Amino acid sequence: MGTLNVVGIGPGNDLHITPAALSAIKSSEHVIGYTTYLRLIKKHIVGKEITRTGMSEEIDRAMTAIKLAKEGKTVTLVSSGDAGVYGMMGLVFDCLKELKWKRGDNPTLNIIPGISAANSCGSLVGAPLIHDSCTISLSDLLTPWPVIEKRIESASKGDFVISFYNPASGRRQRQIVEAKKIIMEYRPGNTPVALVKSGYRKRQDIVMTDLDNFLDYEIGMLTTVIVGSSQTYMYEGYMVTPRGHENKYDLSSGDVKTGQRKTFSLKCEGDLKSQVDLKEEGLELAKTYVTPTDSWVTPKDVNDKAFLNESSEESALEALEMLKGSGHLQFEETKVEKKKVRNILETNDLSTLGLFHGVLWFEDKEETFLIGDFKEPVSLEEHGLSIVEEAGSVKKIEGTSKVEPLFLWEGKGVEAASDIYKKLIIYRNDSVSMRLQDVLKESSERVDFNGGPLFDVRWLANMPQDVWDCVRETKLKC
Ligand code: SAH
Repeated sequence: MGTLNVVGIGPGNDLHITPAALSAIKSSEHVIGYTTYLRLIKKHIVGKEITRTGMSEEIDRAMTAIKLAKEGKTVTLVSSGDAGVYGMMGLVFDCLKELKWKRGDNPTLNIIPGISAANSCGSLVGAPLIHDSCTISLSDLLTPWPVIEKRIESASKGDFVISFYNPASGRRQRQIVEAKKIIMEYRPGNTPVALVKSGYRKRQDIVMTDLDNFLDYEIGMLTTVIVGSSQTYMYEGYMVTPRGHENKYDLSSGDVKTGQRKTFSLKCEGDLKSQVDLKEEGLELAKTYVTPTDSWVTPKDVNDKAFLNESSEESALEALEMLKGSGHLQFEETKVEKKKVRNILETNDLSTLGLFHGVLWFEDKEETFLIGDFKEPVSLEEHGLSIVEEAGSVKKIEGTSKVEPLFLWEGKGVEAASDIYKKLIIYRNDSVSMRLQDVLKESSERVDFNGGPLFDVRWLANMPQDVWDCVRETKLKC
C-alpha cells in the first residue's frame, strides 16, 4: 500500500517548516510540487525522485501524486503555507472523489499542516489577527467575481480584519482596486493596511500603509494584503487589533471598569441579557450541553452597585443575604480552610449522597436512588444493580455496588430524592456540576458520619426551593 503525504511547508524557509512536514518529506521516495516550492526545500529532497510542475498544471500534479502513491510509493505533494488553505489539498480530494477512493483504500492519506500566509505575514507586522478575521482570495480564475465581491462586502460590513491572498498578478490588477472601493464604504481611509511580500523568504518586503494609500505600492502574486478592522491601530510601527480588554478593564490599574464584572459577559447596549427572553420566545437553552462557565460570585460583586439595577438580581441578593445570615454560604474569593471534622451523633433521618458515573447516588437507611440522567449508557447489571422503580430522572435501585459518599443530606425516600433532583441537578448537562459541588463543599461543614468525613449539606435540604432557585439562577448561573 502506498502513502500520499500532502504537506504544507509554511512561508518558505527552514525555520518555519514543522518537524512533521520535514519528516514526511524526508521519509518519502517521490516529491511533487510547483517548481518554486521545491526550490524552497531543495536541500531536503536531494536524491529523491522529483516531479516539478508549472503553476497551471495543478490537476496533473495531483493526479500524478495519487497515481504514484497507488503504485505503492511514499509520495509527498508539497504546497506553500498550509495545503488546506488555497492549497493542493482541495484538488487532491476532488481527484480522489473522481477515482471513487474510500478511507482505508490505497493510498493512505496524510494531511500535514503548515503555517499559512495570514499567520506568518501577521507575525511580521505585529498582531493584526487578534480578533475576528477572515481570508479572501482575490483570484477569480476559478471563482466568479460576483461571489468574491459579495464576500468582501460581507467581511467589510462585519468589521472583520481581512487577509487577501492572491491579491494581484500580471494579468489581474483590477480586483484589488475594486476590493478597496468596497471596503472604503465601511472603513475610514486611515485604517491600517500591511503589504507583506515573500514573507520569511529572501526577497521579503513589508510596507505598512493605510486604506487611502496602499494601492500606491507594488502588490503582486507573492503579496498578502492585511486590511485592519475599525479597531486596528498602529503602534511603534506594529499593526495591532485589540482583543477588547480595554472595554472591561482600566489597563493602567488592571481594575474592572464600573458596571462590568470580570467573568461575566461584557455589559453594553444590545448585549444578550438585554435581549428577548429565549423562554418567552419558546426557545430553551436547556439540553444544549453548554459547559458551565467559571463565573463566580465574589464579595466585590455583592457590593457592586451596578449589580442592584435589576429587580431579579435584587431579589437574588436578598436571598444571598438570607443564606449568608444563616451562616451557610460563604462567597469567598479564596477557598475556605477545611473545617475540623465534627462528629455527628444525632442520626435521625440522615442520608448520604455520592457520585456514580456522573449522576447522584442517594442512600438512606432503607433505600437507594440514582438521581439524574447518564450522559453515556451505563450497564447497571454489570455493577450488580437493578432498577426497582423509575420516575423520570429518579430511579430507585437495589443491589450491592458501594459508592463513596460525599454529602450528608436530611430526609429519606422518594420525596427527598426528588428534592435533591430539583436542588442539585444541572439541567444543561444532566448532572451535578463541579462548580455546584465546589459551592457546596466550600459552604458546608465537614462532619464525621458512619466513619467517613462528609460535607454536611442539610442546610440545603431545608432551604426553600424558590430561594435556592434564585441564588442558582442569578448568582451561580447554573
Ligand atoms: N497555501 C498557501 C496559500 C496559497 S495561495 C498558504 O496557506 O499560505 C498564494 C497566496 O498566498 C499568494 O498570492 C500570497 O497572497 C500568499 N502567500 C503565500 N506565501 C506567502 C509569503 N511567503 N509571503 C506573503 N504571502 C504569501
